[in-house]
Amino acid sequence: MNNTKETIKLMACIDCLLVIANDDTNEMGNDTVGAIRGGIKDWWAEGYILVPGDDSDTFSRARCEVCSSTLAGARHEIIALAR
Ligand SMILES: [Zn+2]
Repeated sequence: MNNTKETIKLMACIDCLLVIANDDTNEMGNDTVGAIRGGIKDWWAEGYILVPGDDSDTFSRARCEVCSSTLAGARHEIIALAR
């Protein structure tokens, strides 16, 4: 089965990974949680569901592709699957 076209690899911040993997928002402020849930909802509206990937970069200044955070830090792979 070749469905690579239906899969997009994203790099997301640790907060997004925690929410996507475990729905863990314990340590986060309302603004952060709102940005993450908004990002997940936007991907959903585009036709994708987000699941945790395997890779992680140790450090990056790249914008988080889920919540758009520009805070430097670890980035983790998130896979967007066509739903
Ligand atoms: Zn994020």
